[in-house]
Amino acid sequence: MSYRTPSRRGGTLVIVLASLVPLCFAGWLVWQSARGSADEGSDSPPALMPGPSGSDGSDGSEGPDGGKPGAPDKRGKSPQPDKGGKENGNRGQKGDPLEGMTVVLDPGHNPNNRKHPDKINRLVDIGTNKKACDTTGTETNSGYAEASFTLDLARRVRTDLEKQGASVKLTQDGDRSYGPCIDERAEIGNTAKADAVVSLHADGAAQGGHGFHVIVPASLRAGDADTTAISAPSRRLGTSLAAAFDKVEGARKSNYIDAEKGYVTRDDLGGLNLSKVPKVFLECGNMRDAGDAAQFTDPEWRGRAAYGIAQGITDFLTEGR
Ligand SMILES: [Zn+2]
Repeated sequence: MSYRTPSRRGGTLVIVLASLVPLCFAGWLVWQSARGSADEGSDSPPALMPGPSGSDGSDGSEGPDGGKPGAPDKRGKSPQPDKGGKENGNRGQKGDPLEGMTVVLDPGHNPNNRKHPDKINRLVDIGTNKKACDTTGTETNSGYAEASFTLDLARRVRTDLEKQGASVKLTQDGDRSYGPCIDERAEIGNTAKADAVVSLHADGAAQGGHGFHVIVPASLRAGDADTTAISAPSRRLGTSLAAAFDKVEGARKSNYIDAEKGYVTRDDLGGLNLSKVPKVFLECGNMRDAGDAAQFTDPEWRGRAAYGIAQGITDFLTEGR
């Protein structure tokens, strides 16, 4: 994945950049040490610090005013909106658009991880590397934990997808004392033979950074990791998810990650490297940004975000039908 780099504008800029490098590196070290050294999913590549004035790639957009996934797509073959909800609760019915489909949702981190540092710091093999079993995740400046956010969001997405007939499994549902480890998170999707897996996160980026981005697996083969078969469908899932999430009211694309196509590709995330089924990460935004945090802490916004996520997954799963 190529990221935006500053263009050369002569010697002065080079000197300025040279003087910024140690500052940025020191800032990155502080940031990393403050939030754990290997946060699966919420560690943006260190080279991608926010620009000085927030060189803004965001494009705030309007989206559906709530509701359920199912707006017809351009082919008119996507599920119809379920305005009133099903009489049988969240369970789908025969003929539902996602009948027979399995979706695994992976709420990033676990609110209890901080109580088990020895367990979550254990290194696990991700094929290309070894990484911590899990991390605590980040939080808003007012202390709303990423793990609480991702779990709430996953449950909302599950509700929406089940109404479309999907079978939905969460990697953890507030029922684990810690974790699961990132390798087990991947294994859960593999064992379920999921048609799609989405790992939900929110970033802990530097001040000034805001907005969402999707992360898709690089095509690689190393140790137990082999994503060669899933990189292309994962990219399609990522594209659908980014397009749908971009329509969520108040959502905006990241201004600190160059994701013009809607996604970035990474090879350092165990949850992606070890997946054998189409899988992406969604970083919903920056928990350290006041604007993003205001959305994350708003249950109504989380409902709209869940709609967008469920819609993106539905679009992917019904593609070509
Ligand atoms: Zn995270």
